[in-house]
Amino acid sequence: MANTGDTLKKMAKTYSPRAVEEKWQSSWQTDEFYQVYRFKNDGKPVFVIDTPPPFTSGELHMGHVYWNILNDTLARYKRMSGFDVLLPQGWDCQGLPTELRVQYKWKIPREDRKLFREKCVEWTGIMIKSMKQTMIRLGYRPDWEQFEYRTMDRDYWRAVQDSLLTMFEKGLIYRREFPVHWCSKCGTALAQAEVGYVQKSGKLYYVKFRAENTDLEVATTRPELLNACVALAVHPEDGRYANLKGKEAEVPIFGQKVKILVDESVDPNFGTGIVMICTYGDEQDIKWQQKYSLPVVKAIDEHGRMINAGRYTGMKNTQAREDIVKDLDGAGRISKTEERVHNVLTHTERVNCMTPIEFLVKDQWFAKSKEFRERVLEEASKMRWIPKFMNQRLVDWVNSIEWDWLISRQRVFGTPVPFWHCRKCNAIIPPKREDLPVDTTVNAPPVKKCPKCSGTEVVGTMDVCDCWVDSSITPLIVTGFFTDKERFKRTYPTDYRQQGHDIIRTWLYYTTLRCTILTEKAPFKGVLINGHILGSDGSRMSKSKGNVIVPEQGVNEYGADAIRQALLSLTLGSDFPFRWEPVKYGKSFLQKVWSSVRFAEGFFTEPSYEFKLEELEDVDRWILSRLREAVAKTVEAMEGFQFHVAVDVLQRFYWHDVCDQYIEAVKPRLYSPRTPESQMAAKSTLYKVIWTFSRLIAPICPHITEEIYQKVFREREGHVSIHAAPYPRIEEVPAVDGKVGEALVRVIAELRSRKVEGKIALSAEVSGAYIQGDKDTLRICRKNEWLIKEVLHIKEVQYGEGEPKAELKRD
Ligand SMILES: [Zn+2]
Ligand SMILES: [Zn+2]
Repeated sequence: MANTGDTLKKMAKTYSPRAVEEKWQSSWQTDEFYQVYRFKNDGKPVFVIDTPPPFTSGELHMGHVYWNILNDTLARYKRMSGFDVLLPQGWDCQGLPTELRVQYKWKIPREDRKLFREKCVEWTGIMIKSMKQTMIRLGYRPDWEQFEYRTMDRDYWRAVQDSLLTMFEKGLIYRREFPVHWCSKCGTALAQAEVGYVQKSGKLYYVKFRAENTDLEVATTRPELLNACVALAVHPEDGRYANLKGKEAEVPIFGQKVKILVDESVDPNFGTGIVMICTYGDEQDIKWQQKYSLPVVKAIDEHGRMINAGRYTGMKNTQAREDIVKDLDGAGRISKTEERVHNVLTHTERVNCMTPIEFLVKDQWFAKSKEFRERVLEEASKMRWIPKFMNQRLVDWVNSIEWDWLISRQRVFGTPVPFWHCRKCNAIIPPKREDLPVDTTVNAPPVKKCPKCSGTEVVGTMDVCDCWVDSSITPLIVTGFFTDKERFKRTYPTDYRQQGHDIIRTWLYYTTLRCTILTEKAPFKGVLINGHILGSDGSRMSKSKGNVIVPEQGVNEYGADAIRQALLSLTLGSDFPFRWEPVKYGKSFLQKVWSSVRFAEGFFTEPSYEFKLEELEDVDRWILSRLREAVAKTVEAMEGFQFHVAVDVLQRFYWHDVCDQYIEAVKPRLYSPRTPESQMAAKSTLYKVIWTFSRLIAPICPHITEEIYQKVFREREGHVSIHAAPYPRIEEVPAVDGKVGEALVRVIAELRSRKVEGKIALSAEVSGAYIQGDKDTLRICRKNEWLIKEVLHIKEVQYGEGEPKAELKRD
């Protein structure tokens, strides 16, 4: 790849991103260039990024690509700044959507667990391949060779199960019957973090119960749960029902007698002020059932069908509601019906399911988490949050947690829950650590008899782990917690976790919880929270809305470097509708850069360029002072993760100062120099400016800068790649006074605008110009008069003191 011969050096007039980008993307995978991207663990200071493993749906939309670009840019910047960077990339494989695809698209029955799992693995492999291809096309270059992981692999299972075993040993895993959030469409229990309230319009029925020989109106949105009604409740200060306290009421149709309780949590303003407690209509019902030790009547099964419901048994709950309302009405037990909008707990997370949640009593596995609320918040408060305000989202979430973490799922494609239990005494029997990973549906338990009661029925579980159980140990996976204690010591806690704001209450929370429990330390020193890239209509991208923007179309047309500039110019943390204009601007910027380098490259004929400060001219000093400022601002922005500032500074500096002003101003000195020293000063300055700028923008536009580097700079600079060169620091650029040059550049720019206004070609000769200004400006202009004349093709210049202005003489 050494830069030899003239053919390689030749730069085409038009920059074609596609050819150049694909060339470097494949070169970066070769041994020679891998040395740049390899995590070396060689004693240099390390920088570790915990990157999000995307769910392996097969598609990467612009939002996913945004994560990759953020991490890639940060990693490239840190590498050039002297860090040994560990940039991993994982795949979150074991999701419900994959099961649904394999079940319905490939028609593989779930019942054959072994075959079903194999097919899920096969499907996922295909998805990963295409997603990886897209990532690479965006210039994303993690350390695939050492740090690519897949949550469905046996090594990953071993790590997940190992971590659960440790939590079990700490007394943090338990199994119990508990009402769980259940999605009847997906056929699985869900965690609190996977459900949310959605506004739906529905009916509020005023149902007449019977108590003390009178009718008692109770408003409910769920009349189909009457069979599971176990109590009524009123507020203690509700005078209307003072005489009913402690009495009993009879439930219509089903006829059971239930107690009338008094409880502070009842809202006297809802309906009639009497609330029906069922097992279970909502989360409040669970609290009341526990508080008053009420009986539990199961009303709905896993498929959303009625049970223990007399003649309604076996009906779908929605059908049962209709029938029960009809029957209540027929018996004169409904006094009125109101239309209303109410909040319905719904399966909102991860899958576009949106089925209303039922509460089912099930044997489930839990990890204790409530008791770690304060600890999690304490660790999170030590992290550097970017942007800062995002910390509050975690605080609010953690403070609202009411249940322990439900870690089991009734599915097939997942990490098996690695425990057995005794059917007689319910004791949990853990696996031996050396046997991990285990699948209790296949593997025999480590004991024949229950160690607690000697019972002989030791049974495994069909349950698998919630996906967040898998993904909440990513910082431990990449730092070698389970496999390489030495590396772990050097790399944990990781430096940054990057993720979207929508998974603060899941991924961020669970990772902090688990890693703190397992290591006694928070998993990262900082969190970088990005917003969402929305469809151009301003709403979240989704297939059903048809507003998904796939990166491929843009990459082929504008190039990855153009997309990278556009995405990095967004402010971190906020949501943005995707727009193509900044991408197009990015592409024209690249062409501008390319053309300017192509021009300058022809003059870089010397073996090296050293500055002789005393030979610099006024414009050289000016552009160097601008460069110094650009370096300072860019470094500050990159250090503060203000990528949008870096993009803006660099685009403005290069387009306006370098291309529009400086290059125009040095052309005469390059083509027809008055002295060799003046030409040499121009060449050295131009070299310095382009070389420094190329490195400044290399993390943002890695392809074009690599191409320029290999063609123009590699011979002199000697690094294998621009991405192995040091990131510019302010000390590299001499601190010179640019004020004189600035005044000169301003005058030249003004005269140029006059030409544009007068529709005179920039290369056309004009007979004269008049420059007016203060004494200093006039002195500077007189000194550089030849330059003004040459740059603007002016024959004569006249001067006058006064308000600053510059005019062309009309012929
Ligand atoms: Zn669902
Ligand atoms: Zn036992």
